Amino acid sequence: MERTRAFTRPAVFVAVCALGGITWAFRTLPGFADAKPTAGGHWYKGNTHTHTVNSDGDSTPDEVVRWYRDHGYRFLVLSDHNVLTSVDALNAVHGLDDQFLVVKGEEVTDVLDGKPIHINGLDLTSRVEPQHGYSTLDVIQRNVDAIRAADGVPHVNHPNFNWAIAGVDLQRLERVNLFEIYNGHPLVNNVGGGGVPGMEEVWDRLLSSGKIMYGIADDDAHVFKQPGNPDVAGPGRGWIFVRAERLAPRAIVEALERGDFYASTGVELSDYQVTAKEITITINELPARKYRVEFIGANGRVLKEAISSPATYTFTGNEKYVRAKIFDSNGHVAWTQPVSR
Ligand SMILES: [Zn+2]
Ligand SMILES: [Zn+2]
Repeated sequence: MERTRAFTRPAVFVAVCALGGITWAFRTLPGFADAKPTAGGHWYKGNTHTHTVNSDGDSTPDEVVRWYRDHGYRFLVLSDHNVLTSVDALNAVHGLDDQFLVVKGEEVTDVLDGKPIHINGLDLTSRVEPQHGYSTLDVIQRNVDAIRAADGVPHVNHPNFNWAIAGVDLQRLERVNLFEIYNGHPLVNNVGGGGVPGMEEVWDRLLSSGKIMYGIADDDAHVFKQPGNPDVAGPGRGWIFVRAERLAPRAIVEALERGDFYASTGVELSDYQVTAKEITITINELPARKYRVEFIGANGRVLKEAISSPATYTFTGNEKYVRAKIFDSNGHVAWTQPVSR
């Protein structure tokens, strides 16, 4: 019950369930129907949350970009605190062969009553000042709207960092459909505790209430000069694979807003298809590992489990949403985005 209390706005959730019309509920909601990944396109591995010496990181933008490029990523968003780092010179050096893209970004870094409220703006046209506000929701919404006004795409960062942003705040937000379900910083409380739900539980509550949000995994990397130290915010812990037509900032952020990506801490897919009939997940299996796929629906319930790849889920038509979580035998996971039919 503590968990329910922590998520203090169950009214929408209850109303949807009480109607007994889960199918009705999701069919009236915009967004899920558009969540089908596009056919074709290319998968690009990227990280949307990174710091440099332009705020509180320990390495220059050039060093940071080099790390990601050298580790198999295809794009990187530099997101310093309240700084919009120019990426033209970086792309001139690192993007010459169209193998790598640096995307402009900023972590709009606000505070309310000592609580950190951080919203990433991706592919902004101009720097965004923290907007402040009178409540957590107000601060987030104002910053989201300021990011939109600068043509950026917002994602809500580390809600459980300092226990700043509750599920109820995410529930009421408008004009943002991305948030971090995994952030690689060691102090952000991804999995919750003490009666406060973790990000994946919050995600299922949001989705079950009809609030469409897509989940991002990223590094929030600050420290590149202490490789292997788990106690600092190092790189390479969480990332996304985005399916986009081409490696260009707009193509990437538009794919994110369509939900055409998956998040990972180490599991990679070789394909992920959604048709009107089914979801098919093909794992890029590594030697000497074993895998398990959970297809998850309303209220976080596991609808089907699979232990072979490709793994397929056939829609019954009564699911509110279906998302998949893929586990490997060493504790790594991947999360696909929710879809429904
Ligand atoms: Zn932050
Ligand atoms: Zn950060």
